[in-house]
Amino acid sequence: MTTLAFLGLGAIGRPMARRLAEHGAIDLAVWNRTAERATTFARDQAEQGVRAAATPAEAARGAEIVITCFPTSADVESLLDGDAGLIAGMTRGATLVDCTSGDPATSRRIAERLAAEGLQFVDAPVSGGVTGAEKGTLTVMCGGDSAIVERVGPVLSAFGSRIVHCGPVGSGHALKAVNNALLAVHIWSTAEGLAALTRAGISPSLALGVINASSGRSNASMNLFPERVLTRAFPRTFRLALLDKDAGIAAQFTREQKVSAPLLQLGAELFRAAHAELGEDADHVEAVKLIERWAGVEIA
Ligand code: NDP
Repeated sequence: MTTLAFLGLGAIGRPMARRLAEHGAIDLAVWNRTAERATTFARDQAEQGVRAAATPAEAARGAEIVITCFPTSADVESLLDGDAGLIAGMTRGATLVDCTSGDPATSRRIAERLAAEGLQFVDAPVSGGVTGAEKGTLTVMCGGDSAIVERVGPVLSAFGSRIVHCGPVGSGHALKAVNNALLAVHIWSTAEGLAALTRAGISPSLALGVINASSGRSNASMNLFPERVLTRAFPRTFRLALLDKDAGIAAQFTREQKVSAPLLQLGAELFRAAHAELGEDADHVEAVKLIERWAGVEIA
């Protein structure tokens, strides 16, 4: 029996918390900025004994492991201090596991702050989308002390089937950012290529069939374009704003590492432009609509 707190019941946080409630044999407290989402979640999971907390401190009180899943590391950092903050509630020896797709530098700063209070930190961003969270098949990329990662691993396996220790604090966030920068580049470049093929009169579904049996394939070409673009469904599962943030973190990371990375820099700039153009609620795959608009063609 592990006592847990989960903070941030967004698109992916909610199914992750549900997996913990249903498969973790745990005592779980949840907190969400919009309180109604936490009370609804607790009501739906009442049989599992889930309770909604009024503040981050109240959720964290008595928990061995506190899991956060917010848009950015800055959001996590903003909840640490004050009477209602995480540090006020966390018990000495407890661990903060941050499943936000955050940035390495802020995570290292958070880890130092927590260590000064006798608290531990692991960055643990996830990959696999909302469906992976629902099925419990996420990949969890952990950064932190190996003994701590090993200790929290069984809890994370409620929503993750692949728990990977990547290195010290910040390593999980670095790897996740690079992964998502590749996703961004794949979506953008696949859309450019298919827009040109469509204008030339070559059917995009025929083109994808060939590409997916050839060396240009990717998750974007194999799954996202057939299921979301050709169908014009564009479901909203992962906000474009978040992929913009991830591509920006990856670009910043390459600069910090003094690695020349013009393609990842350009990818970050293009997704920043797409985010500015399409707004806060657009899904990441909707970036394709911008390329279609510029090309005057629909990939369908
Ligand atoms: P959403 O935008 O759906 O949800 C964000 C959550 O964070 C909400 O609970 C929101 O509260 C809360 N929140 C936002 N800002 C603050 C703040 N300043 N203080 C406190 N709470 C805040 O995001 P997702 O669930 O999609 O993503 C969460 C993280 O997981 C991101 O880092 C994302 O990059 C990553 N991720 C997402 C995936 C996906 O498929 N969606 C896949 C893999 C990683 P409120 O309800 O009040 O708005």
